[in-house]
Amino acid sequence: ALILQMAADGLHGRAAVGPKHNALSYTQLYEKAQRVSAWLAARGARRADLVGVNSEAVPLLLFGAALAGVPFVPLNYRLADDRLRALAGRTIPAVAVTDTSAVDRLSGIPGVEVVPRAEFLAVAGDESVSATRDWGGDPDDVAVLLFTSGTTGEPKAAVLRHRHLVSYVVSTVEFMGADSDEATLVSVPPYHIAGITALLSSVYAGRRVVQLPAFDAREWVRVARAEQVTHAMVVPTMLGRILDELGRDTLPALRSLSYGGGRMPAPVIERAMELLPHVDFVNAYGLTETSSTIAMLGPDDHRTAWASEDPAVRRRLGSVGRPVPSVELEICDAAGKPLPAGARGEIWVRGPQVAGEYLDRRAVRDHGWFPTKDEGCLDEAGYLFVEGRLDDVIVRGGENMSPGEIEDTLRAHPAVLDAAVVGLPDTEWGERVVAAVVLRAGTGATEEELRLWVRERLRSSRTPEHVTFRTALPYTDTGKLLRRELRAELVHEQETR
Ligand code: ATP
Repeated sequence: ALILQMAADGLHGRAAVGPKHNALSYTQLYEKAQRVSAWLAARGARRADLVGVNSEAVPLLLFGAALAGVPFVPLNYRLADDRLRALAGRTIPAVAVTDTSAVDRLSGIPGVEVVPRAEFLAVAGDESVSATRDWGGDPDDVAVLLFTSGTTGEPKAAVLRHRHLVSYVVSTVEFMGADSDEATLVSVPPYHIAGITALLSSVYAGRRVVQLPAFDAREWVRVARAEQVTHAMVVPTMLGRILDELGRDTLPALRSLSYGGGRMPAPVIERAMELLPHVDFVNAYGLTETSSTIAMLGPDDHRTAWASEDPAVRRRLGSVGRPVPSVELEICDAAGKPLPAGARGEIWVRGPQVAGEYLDRRAVRDHGWFPTKDEGCLDEAGYLFVEGRLDDVIVRGGENMSPGEIEDTLRAHPAVLDAAVVGLPDTEWGERVVAAVVLRAGTGATEEELRLWVRERLRSSRTPEHVTFRTALPYTDTGKLLRRELRAELVHEQETR
């Protein structure tokens, strides 16, 4: 709310959200959010849920809830009905704004008032509702409650307070620094932290926000062109599809493209830099619990690494860069003791944007340090390399290996489109390395050939003992590999073979 209030004071009539010819100005967005706030307060709502695709309802409910001092809770509409209903019914009374398709799925939960999106938009636009609630809240109030995607276990309910989000935005974005023709395309869903921080950062910067209801590469390219989008944020899988869609075409208006949420395959970013040399690329690394980006590899680093002959510098194209201002990072051993440069360990982080809190517990340790459960290492110059989740580490005969390195090696094979590596139970070694691979259309590669490819490039213990071929791998719609699901499938195949 503070972010919107400041921006509305300074930017007035400038376009804030929506398509070029029909955008809400900053003043209109603020007025509508104020009406939403009064409406939530009149209902005694303690939570404002949203189940639906990316639309104007997102900023209206996000800022309206903030002004009313209640958490905004975007839920993933792809969740199974029982899961969705369980998450929606956790705090009552609540208001749940939903797309028409989700109205029935949520109806009948005691204490939850289901409001179809059209009705909600009418409230926000109803001039008879008084619009005079300024934010009188506390920076410690909960701003957003986000359920993580649960790729490594049950989804966690991450709590983000106003002070965390404001710290993130204020320390990473130049306030109102944007030219009036700048526009951000947000194609990450609102129930993902990157969708929320992209929205907040753009509003604070004075950059018009264009929302894509759901990601589709053709539609992304069409909207980017039609709306002359200058900034965008994507997950790695989206970038690969956008490049396929572009072919040899380019996007002349695009100035900056951030990516993150998972490991970026080297061939994809290299292709992107080649096709779009005028674009500033940013690799952003972060977690829900840290209000998104805690480290980034900026445009200059991308260009320097790409042009360098020095392997140590060139490698940095695969890093996530250095911590953002006001964030500190350390690599620690299992006991939480800091390790020197070059050593692999768990990434720990601290700073004013680091929440490290869930609905039922706090995960921040002494002196504000938060263990990310990601494995990584820092090079001599302080560049961070993220290997992946510690929970995904494969332990074979006492040797620890992260699947990311083996997956990258497989993906570098010309016939391989995508690859995932997991450890399966093994009586002799504890775990053994198994790969699932998707081949490019019109190409071929045998299991033996791919095993040899890895053996020649990595240690032989990292060579998959078995490679299975698939037509697709399971992903969440924010591009996260559903490793647990894949592992369960492979265990089942192993048992029935
Ligand atoms: P859950 O924690 O329930 O499994 P999740 O993985 O979706 O859900 P998020 O907070 O969305 O939770 O994801 C954060 C994780 O994504 C990080 O811990 C890291 O493993 C990975 N990640 C994020 N950005 C990057 C990046 N730029 N490069 C590599 N990995 C990244």
